[in-house]
Amino acid sequence: MRFATLEINGRQTVAAVSEDGQSYCEANRMVPDFDGDMIAWIKRMPSVADIANRANGWKPIAGVRLLAPIPIPQRNVFCVGKNYHEHAREFSQSGFDTSATKGELAPSVPVIFTKAPSSVIGCNDDVSGFADQTQQLDYEAELTVIIGKGGRGITKADALRHIWGYTIINDVTARDLQQKHRQWFLGKSMDTFCPMGPWIVTADEVDPTRLGIRCWINGELRQNANTSDLIFDIPTIIETISSVITLQPGDVIATGTPAGVGIGFKPPKFLKSGDVMKIEIDKLGTLTNRVA
Ligand code: MG
Repeated sequence: MRFATLEINGRQTVAAVSEDGQSYCEANRMVPDFDGDMIAWIKRMPSVADIANRANGWKPIAGVRLLAPIPIPQRNVFCVGKNYHEHAREFSQSGFDTSATKGELAPSVPVIFTKAPSSVIGCNDDVSGFADQTQQLDYEAELTVIIGKGGRGITKADALRHIWGYTIINDVTARDLQQKHRQWFLGKSMDTFCPMGPWIVTADEVDPTRLGIRCWINGELRQNANTSDLIFDIPTIIETISSVITLQPGDVIATGTPAGVGIGFKPPKFLKSGDVMKIEIDKLGTLTNRVA
């Protein structure tokens, strides 16, 4: 099933979204006393099989605002840098990478960084261009994991059992700030720099090891890859993070972007005001945002 956070008449609500994306059923129609947010739903939700039977009274979604499925994550969004070979190469050759040892084409261990929770926005929300702060705005399409069952010391063999579902993140980045400050945090955590959505698809419906992932800028296909090309797969990422940090239900992990980001082109193709970024991942839907 797919679950979204919707804004209806100024009220936030968790809802199931139909397979065709055209209608929704609020969570409290399936669990009558439920009155929480998506993280509460992740902790509380009965099995998908039970829920599917209880969904009723579907309403048309047209005109309803989709918020990010987790509008304010409980803590930073975990991210993986340079996790596709071709992208690691384009980044290392772009001159923007201050994190690599000289001549390194791909990292030998996962590169983990985070984005501030305040950077999260929903599908169709505008990304601020920050024209006074950056002249090198870039996009990154990423398959994203939502943790269901938390834990510390999760092994690769157990990792998939800790995943509640999957969504899409656009890891928007100010390349000049990423480079200037050496640590990636500021250039990737600016307000609105983490579009997320359009919804979460539960893990039972997704094989994350072979999903097509694409990104268009103003209709031009820039990224076109498959998650089978990840350098460090999702179990490895979960094992790595949870070896030192206790994962919690509702934690968000973006798994990295494939080749075709703006700095991968010669000359680079940076974003400008009015550009429309559209990201599509098989089974997960489409995340569209405009640069304000
Ligand atoms: Mg990224």
